[in-house]
Amino acid sequence: MSPGSLDSYRRKRDFARTREPRPRRGARGGWRFVVQQHAARSVHFDFRLEVDGVLVSWAVPKGPSLNPRHKRLAIRTEDHPVAYASFEGVIPKGQYGAGRVIVWDRGTYRNLLADKPRPATMRTALRRGLLEIALSGRKLRGGFALTRIRGAGQGSQWLLVKRNDARAERRRNPVTSDPRSVRSGRTVRELPKP
Ligand code: MN
Repeated sequence: MSPGSLDSYRRKRDFARTREPRPRRGARGGWRFVVQQHAARSVHFDFRLEVDGVLVSWAVPKGPSLNPRHKRLAIRTEDHPVAYASFEGVIPKGQYGAGRVIVWDRGTYRNLLADKPRPATMRTALRRGLLEIALSGRKLRGGFALTRIRGAGQGSQWLLVKRNDARAERRRNPVTSDPRSVRSGRTVRELPKP
């Protein structure tokens, strides 16, 4: 699965029935990231990075950590349209991912590998299975690494790890200390049930 294809995203949804965004060519330029908390069959966090006009996505069961000792499993899921970054609400019963979604954090990111002596684009880094990025969000800040440990494409397993920098925090866990949407102030449980 290469970034740039929304076929899998589109195939799973009936856009006459769900209010999730219809795929559309995303605007180039901004490098956005979003972390959505998604209460579906299980509660998890969807970590998404804008790359070449789509949101490259991972499901992170435990959510991101600011502690560099925590290795968070992240499972690659299908690319999403860039407009999905602002989606918050209810996915109806019977639809893929039925449940509740909040925008848990969002902001912009930088590709730290672009500054290296042998620079790599995000697309190249994805292919190689090693991303190094700096996040500027409300809750998540500073460097993170995403390393592929198993598989390829959709379903591949990665580890999301905070870099040991000035933004690392060992005590506070924003998943529990800061559960509210940065968009609406609501917790995922305050949304109506599908
Ligand atoms: Mn999800």
